[in-house]
Amino acid sequence: MKLCPYCNQKISFFGSLFGGIDHTECNSEAIKHQNFLRNYLRKEVMLGGFNKIAPKEFAEAQKFLSGTLEAEEAMAAGFDDAVEEMCDDISLDDQELQKIERFLSDFGSRFPEAKPDEPSTKEYVENMLNRYGSFRTLAQGRILYELQKGILPKQPAPTGLMLNKNETFIYSWGSVRCSILNVKTRYRGRSTGGTYRISKNFSIRHTEHRGKPVSYTEWKDVGSGILSVTNKHLIFLGDERDVKERFSKISSLDPTSDGFIVNLSLKTRPAVRFTMSGSSRDVWFASNLILKAPLFEKNT
Ligand SMILES: [Zn+2]
Repeated sequence: MKLCPYCNQKISFFGSLFGGIDHTECNSEAIKHQNFLRNYLRKEVMLGGFNKIAPKEFAEAQKFLSGTLEAEEAMAAGFDDAVEEMCDDISLDDQELQKIERFLSDFGSRFPEAKPDEPSTKEYVENMLNRYGSFRTLAQGRILYELQKGILPKQPAPTGLMLNKNETFIYSWGSVRCSILNVKTRYRGRSTGGTYRISKNFSIRHTEHRGKPVSYTEWKDVGSGILSVTNKHLIFLGDERDVKERFSKISSLDPTSDGFIVNLSLKTRPAVRFTMSGSSRDVWFASNLILKAPLFEKNT
């Protein structure tokens, strides 16, 4: 027998058809409470704290949704909304970072102290809020912010990567597929976010390259491997072959929903496409990092 998680009464297989209890209102109440929690959390994170005296709707929502994971899911969604909003201006600045920290500390103080054999309250709260990968996005937003300030990400270069004199390794991604456009005409991309000129201080917003992947028939797949970016090149170390493109030959970058297309000023090879594993936010991070890479000069 199935029970309604909200009112704890029987759910009939036939609904209310043969006199069973109607749970339509339970469900719509649940959605109302979830929406409240999500919006409330988002607002509090954006303000940078968590009010000790939460409105009565907060307690009501938690009570109504208790016994399900829905309260936690709604709060994690609200936290993620705020993280996405903060990172959508491309980087996570000091003020935004402080807001997140203050929120986490205030919010965490609502939970009881952990016992010695339990994970710490901090870990518990972070796991709870990280259902949608918010902390990964926070770290990526921070890397973009620091790169803009001239601070290199702390990532070692992949083995086998050869650098020229005065060339600086910046970042790399594994499990990237590479395809080359082998046509004589220049690719005119109809990707979701438009075209971005390399070496200008443009940035791509996460929301602009959401959407359906565009399919291309003329692309020749050249294998999968590691894509590295330096201040001078994009270097793909593949299982079948390597591809190395100099920024001075790259005319623009077209983000797609699962990677990006690099347009080249070369007649024989007008474009190279990279497809990445991970979420659309990982693509957001990669394309913005690459846009900033040629601007990067050490000690400036
Ligand atoms: Zn019910």
